[in-house]
Amino acid sequence: MKNGERQMRIESDLKLDYKDVLLKPKRSKLTSRRDVDMEREFKFLNSGKEFKGIPIIASNMDGVGTFSMAKVLQNYKMLTVLRKHYDPEDWDHAVDEGLDLNYVSICTGTNKIWDEDAPDFLTLKVVLEKYPEIPFITIDVANGYHENFVDFVAQMREEFPEQTIIAGNVITAEMTEELILRGADIVKCGIGPGSVCTTRLMTGVGIPQFSGIIECADAAHGVGGQVIADGGCVYPGDLAKAFGAGSDFVMLGGMLAGHEESEVDITDGKMEFYGMSSDRAMEIHGARKDGYRGAEGKDIKIPYKGTVEDTLTEIIGGVRSACTYIGATKIKDMPKCATFVQVLQQENQVFNLFE
Ligand code: 5GP
Repeated sequence: MKNGERQMRIESDLKLDYKDVLLKPKRSKLTSRRDVDMEREFKFLNSGKEFKGIPIIASNMDGVGTFSMAKVLQNYKMLTVLRKHYDPEDWDHAVDEGLDLNYVSICTGTNKIWDEDAPDFLTLKVVLEKYPEIPFITIDVANGYHENFVDFVAQMREEFPEQTIIAGNVITAEMTEELILRGADIVKCGIGPGSVCTTRLMTGVGIPQFSGIIECADAAHGVGGQVIADGGCVYPGDLAKAFGAGSDFVMLGGMLAGHEESEVDITDGKMEFYGMSSDRAMEIHGARKDGYRGAEGKDIKIPYKGTVEDTLTEIIGGVRSACTYIGATKIKDMPKCATFVQVLQQENQVFNLFE
């Protein structure tokens, strides 16, 4: 190699997705799924605040991060990141209708960097002034590798010292650490695994989610932070694998879409569901001004699945059962109890509950 020439780099260590692994069953003292403690307690590094609940989060997507969804998830002590497009009056109305602010996060992009009057940021300021007890702020962008993004997280840390900050998305150790060191409490991890995401096809960028989570969780825990495994869960067993891989929280989009709580019309038994960077999202909400051109998402029709409670029961049941199989008395112990086996091709023995 000549001086100054860069050698092309190929990392050849194995990177796996949820479908590439299974949890190995182990002798267990647990006699019933009921004995598994599904709640976790955290004290966050930078905000100093605490949270106790089931560490499953509804994504800030249309059809998922709705007030109707939050009002059901709060009964399970699960969090909902509300979609960016609600205005302050919508928040007032939801609070009047019984929204429990302890289990919600408000969300913003980084539009403010380019536009002082970015609507999502203005809404965030107004809503947080009125409801300073909202515990979480989510700063969500498709690509968390921009320098601007990290600076914005640091600014937000200064401006909102009382809130626990969730920031993402990234999927490598060094950026996970950097975000925590610059003020995030929890890093949202996942580039390209989402059910309506086309990033890997459009850009060729991504890291298989299961291996990515192992790396990011390890990095975050090393500096005192937490991670959310965001995207790619299709079955309850995928959540069990994410927790086993070390993720503190799991965020769901597609698994929670298509329900009564989605606030979407039903046509011929189906509901529309689209990626937040899709052309369809841009048609509905207007093009983004945050420096990245979207169209890294698709627009699909999914069967209407009824109320989300039935789906939540299946998800919680699946994770509880996984714990009994591996001998974990609490969800917190899953990484300690989990041994994974790599499978070349997983037989699809599960009938798909979520389609
Ligand atoms: P799912 O649970 O549906 O597999 O993944 C949900 C996650 O996909 C979201 O929380 C978000 O991080 C990601 N996502 C949502 N919409 C889009 C999109 O249009 N493009 C990309 N690249 N990711 C998306």
